[in-house]
Amino acid sequence: MSTDRLKSLCVFCGSNTGSDPAYRQDAALLGKMCARNSITLIYGGGNSGVMGQLSKAVIANGGKAVGIIPELLNRKSKHDKEVETIVVDNMHGRKALMYQQSDAFVALPGGIGTIEELFEVYTWKQIGYHEKPVALLNSGGYFDHLIDFLDNMVRKKFLKEEHRTDLVVADNVEELFARLSAFFV
Ligand code: AMP
Repeated sequence: MSTDRLKSLCVFCGSNTGSDPAYRQDAALLGKMCARNSITLIYGGGNSGVMGQLSKAVIANGGKAVGIIPELLNRKSKHDKEVETIVVDNMHGRKALMYQQSDAFVALPGGIGTIEELFEVYTWKQIGYHEKPVALLNSGGYFDHLIDFLDNMVRKKFLKEEHRTDLVVADNVEELFARLSAFFV
C-alpha cells in the first residue's frame, strides 16, 4: 500500500455511535491506520459517537488529529486535549478550512450532518472545484440504501455515470486505503 502522498484525510462521521458495533470498530481501525501511515486526521472536533472513536484511536496510536469546530459547537461539545483544536467563526469557515487542509475525504456512518458534509464535497467535485478523492466507508452496509439511490439517479438521468463512479465506495478499511492510495501514486 502506498499512501506516501496522502498526508491528511478529512473524515465526516456521526456525533452518535449508531446501533451496529461495526461502525465504531471501523472508525477505530481507520484511526489506527491513519496514525500508522502518518496521515493527519482532519475532522469535526467533537469527542462523541463515531467521531470520538476515530479521534481517540488516532491519538492512542501516536497519530495527529486536528478538529475544526465552529464557536457555537465548541461551547456545547467536549473535546480531547490531545486533539489540536481550531475554533472558527461559523460552519462556512469550518468547511473552507477542512477542504483546504485535506488531501482526501471520507464519510463513515453518521446522520444528517455527515450526509450534508459528504454531499457538499462530492458536489464540488462534480462541478470541478477540486479533484480530490471522495469516499464512503460502507461499514456494516450502512450506506446500501444511499448507494441504491445514487444508482437510481443515474438510471433516471439526474447523475452522470462518470460522477457516480467518482464516489469511491469501500466495504472495509483495508479496501478504502487501497482505493485511496491509487490516487496518490
Ligand atoms: P451527525 O452525522 O448529524 O451526527 O453530524 C456529524 C457531523 O457534523 C460531523 O462530521 C461534524 O463535522 C459535525 N458535528 C455534528 N455534531 C458535532 C459536535 N457536537 N461537535 C463537532 N462536530 C459536530
